[in-house]
Amino acid sequence: METVDLLAGLGRVLAEGILADRDFPPFDRATRDGYAVCAADLAKVPARLEVVGEVKAGDWPEPGVCSVGRGQAVGIMTGAPLPAGADAVVMVEHTSLGDAPVGKLVVEVRRSVSRGENFVPRGAEARTGQLLLDRGRRVDHAGIAIAASAGKSRVQVFRKPRVAVLSTGDEVVEIDATPGPAQIRNSNSYSLAAQVQNAGGEAVRLGIAPDERGRLRALIEEAWIETGLQCDLLLLTGGVSMGKYDLVEQVLWELKAEFYFTGAQIQPGRPVVFGSCGAPHKKYFFGLPGNPVSTMVTFELFARPMIEALAGMTPQRLIFLGARLKSEIRTKTGLKRFLPAVLSGEFENAEVELARWQGSGDIATLARANCYVVIPPDRERIEAGEWVSLLMQCG
Ligand code: AMP
Ligand code: MG
Repeated sequence: METVDLLAGLGRVLAEGILADRDFPPFDRATRDGYAVCAADLAKVPARLEVVGEVKAGDWPEPGVCSVGRGQAVGIMTGAPLPAGADAVVMVEHTSLGDAPVGKLVVEVRRSVSRGENFVPRGAEARTGQLLLDRGRRVDHAGIAIAASAGKSRVQVFRKPRVAVLSTGDEVVEIDATPGPAQIRNSNSYSLAAQVQNAGGEAVRLGIAPDERGRLRALIEEAWIETGLQCDLLLLTGGVSMGKYDLVEQVLWELKAEFYFTGAQIQPGRPVVFGSCGAPHKKYFFGLPGNPVSTMVTFELFARPMIEALAGMTPQRLIFLGARLKSEIRTKTGLKRFLPAVLSGEFENAEVELARWQGSGDIATLARANCYVVIPPDRERIEAGEWVSLLMQCG
């Protein structure tokens, strides 16, 4: 755990519950500009009430100095405390100042109000000592607001989990190298580092391992198991498919890994593996497929929840949105599919259309898409106009 300044707590997971240090609201708080009244005086309208004072936000209406008796009203502003004797606020829009003898002020009210209208009673949102935000919650802007209003200028959060990222592949080179004709730059280490940070972890990039059993094993062992990098999770990319040089799974077996699953019924991402290594201190790993879009999708579906759990977060479900499909989709059945798409339109007019892509290596298209359409494994054809569920691409 660590204690950080409130704003530095944005995106972090609370290690302490945030309690109300006073009642919320701390007084009967007017929610409209108008007049504090006794509702019973407005049973018949129009009604004339004598204005005996005014409370603006920040004023404290001392009972005895400023209170509302029968036939009386007190001018009141949004956010101001309700004076004693009043049980409702009538909006200024439903009133006008009436004729009155010199030295007196009279308001004419055209609408009646019910008791309790237009103010929030003291403690209605939370009572002193009540839990406002639970430990294990990820702090968002609303969490920042509630912590701020409870006077927490510093908050206790969990340490970020450290997540090692190791890319594999003889063809993969560092991004500042000039790639040879058959080489490609290591984009996965970077996209994964970004996703790790986004999920609340701290990424440690370990570089690139070749498709050679001994070197791969040595790198995994040195970097992750032995050298005490203090990482909580290892993400490997590439080398988990069925190819002759896909050695990651083999090497992990050699390292006596325990596998929790090998493969998932999804596309892209089918070869993903998850397991742990080492006793007594288990170290968890994911072997993610190397195709960049597969890497990203499998991260969101499997690695993100793991990182959130390691970060101390209360488990969350993935969030799926719905939208109407713009044009028909035909796919193969058998696997749940995640297809890059563009969500457009607003509110009830949200529409989604598949991006034309070249398969799970196509990051250029993915970068222009903003979500994935999720297709159930038994659907061959989805017609235009049907509602489909979307996995949003996380920023
Ligand atoms: P693999 O999963 O190793 O069979 O790789 C599948 C595809 O992803 C191949 O076209 C690889 O070149 C590509 N790929 C593998 N690793 C990376 C990486 N770190 N960055 C970008 N592309 C990669
Ligand atoms: Mg490979």
